[in-house]
Amino acid sequence: MKRRNFLKASALTLASPLLASGDQKVKRNTQNPIVISTWNHGIPANEVSAEILHAGGSALDAVEAGVRVTEADAQNQSVGLGGRPDRKGIVTLDASIMDSQGNAGSVAFLQNIKHPISVARLVMEKTDHVMLAGQGALEFAKEQGFEEENLLTEQSAVGWEEWKRNNNIKDTWGPNDDHDTITSLAQDKNGNIAAACTTSGLAYKLHGRVGDSPIIGAGMFVDNEIGAAGATGVGELVMRTCGSFLVVELMRQGLSPMEACNEAVERIIKKEGKNTKSQVGYIALRKDGEIGYASIHKGFQYALYKNKKNKLYDVPSKL
Ligand code: ASP
Repeated sequence: MKRRNFLKASALTLASPLLASGDQKVKRNTQNPIVISTWNHGIPANEVSAEILHAGGSALDAVEAGVRVTEADAQNQSVGLGGRPDRKGIVTLDASIMDSQGNAGSVAFLQNIKHPISVARLVMEKTDHVMLAGQGALEFAKEQGFEEENLLTEQSAVGWEEWKRNNNIKDTWGPNDDHDTITSLAQDKNGNIAAACTTSGLAYKLHGRVGDSPIIGAGMFVDNEIGAAGATGVGELVMRTCGSFLVVELMRQGLSPMEACNEAVERIIKKEGKNTKSQVGYIALRKDGEIGYASIHKGFQYALYKNKKNKLYDVPSKL
């Protein structure tokens, strides 16, 4: 390209609304607090978040408190206490949190701590780092006053024994119902947005495996000018496509939350092929309060708290 044409093309690109620093035409919702969370465990989590939001609390406090409900639920086998273990029989947890200022914190491969989301928040607030992993994350948690406890419940131990009997080492991940991360996105009365994501990851994963949930931009992402997005499902597919960042960035480029979630799912399908058995689901919340969702397969649900109603919805499948 000749220099003159190059300069012309560059000027055009710079002038393009697609590269604007935010979709300024979208008004910020400040009327109604909103919470959207993945799966049916999002309902009790949303309840707690909504209470905080109605009392004037921040989106950050709301998402943390909400997902702590799921982490503490021993019956829930995909998050926190009672989570399904890895193939060595050890429960390892991943979590991340992001506030409206763009601050983020996360923990990966954390063991014996029931509330990884709160450890992630302290990584964000008390250190200069974004992510702590494994033994270091555990030591940090203990320094901050968290107590170690056994997270492997009887129910999850029995499931693991059964899996060992029925599977061989060549098996990869379990079926769809072996994973169900909670990712929660909230908008407070000031219109600010925050996100939290917490999981025990894929059931019977290799020891040491870390998923998308603690990776900022994969498991969740917040850009307060635009909105937020979060993921659930096979984390490897989310990580390879920077899923949550992609959804938010597509909204910045002008796609609606629905279009952005659909496009992010389509990109995975394009890479994996239409025969993929893996599930990925996305949720999105734009700053004007509009939401989006999409998933590869049927079965994915999201819980939405809006206009003082907290309801569970099915997401139509792409395949
Ligand atoms: N995304 C999680 C992971 O890959 C799994 C899930 O959604 O349950 O660790």
